[in-house]
Amino acid sequence: MDSVTLPAFEDLGHGITAIDTGYVRPFFDASHLVVENGRAAFVDVGTSHSVPGLLAVVEARGLPLEAVDYVIVTHVHLDHAGGAGEMMRRLPRARLVVHPRGARHMVDPSKLWAGASAVFGEETVRRSYGAPVPVDEARVVEAPEGFTLELGGRPLRFLDTPGHARHHFCVWDEASRSMFTGDTFGLSYRELASPRGAFVLPTTTPVQFEPEALLASIDRLVAHAPAAMLLTHYSRVVEIERLAEDLRRQTRELVALGRAEDGKPGRGARLREGVLELFLGWVRDHGTPLSAERVRELLAVDVELNAQGLEVWLDRGRVVP
Ligand SMILES: [Zn+2]
Repeated sequence: MDSVTLPAFEDLGHGITAIDTGYVRPFFDASHLVVENGRAAFVDVGTSHSVPGLLAVVEARGLPLEAVDYVIVTHVHLDHAGGAGEMMRRLPRARLVVHPRGARHMVDPSKLWAGASAVFGEETVRRSYGAPVPVDEARVVEAPEGFTLELGGRPLRFLDTPGHARHHFCVWDEASRSMFTGDTFGLSYRELASPRGAFVLPTTTPVQFEPEALLASIDRLVAHAPAAMLLTHYSRVVEIERLAEDLRRQTRELVALGRAEDGKPGRGARLREGVLELFLGWVRDHGTPLSAERVRELLAVDVELNAQGLEVWLDRGRVVP
């Protein structure tokens, strides 16, 4: 482990550390390490390439790898769970905690990698996430709605939060009054903050975006009155009510865009243009001091993913009204 460079990490108090997984760009993709009474858990783990850095932070915290009891993945998208198999291979005592709908994809990750390859291309997937590593079924814990884990005596409670994906849960940490939100409370890239505070935006990634479910999940998270939401992209935000209101409005605007463009020729291209226009408008209204070109760069992948996700949602709507 000595040769591994420590990634950027930040102590958030209450035994929580936000660690940069090194995926895409600095402060894009976080893993959170929670430590209580000498026992540790990760919430989201980036990709296979993130694993050595994350483990180096455990050791930098003065803990042996045997102290890690749990690897928790908020959902099985590969920027959150792509490193789970490799992580489990390196952690002798850990158990993998996953939504019941995601568990089989951790035991046999081939379908998950094939799905990502369909969206991003096979070569990109291999380069970005590494090779799929299956997890031994005996080490997998399924966490349904209401499930509670004890980490060194500290309760972590799981909420079923569909909307971004059906295999998504969020994790409530009563000790810090923080919610680990994965992608359910949207994305908050730090570059997009302004004097007004953090900027947030919803992610409608394919293939399970469901707007009504997402809005209901956001309400459930807010109802806990958290002191902070800990997002995977990227970590701690406060001002929960303002951000929740932004997410609700933005989600409704994306849905309205989808409905307006549905059935028209060139729907895909029009959605990409429309999503970009919405994003640029939201960032401008937020007062973010970046050029439109820089914002376009930062959000290029999200424009593509949100447009694709809206298309999948519109097409699903036609089959099951
Ligand atoms: Zn996701």
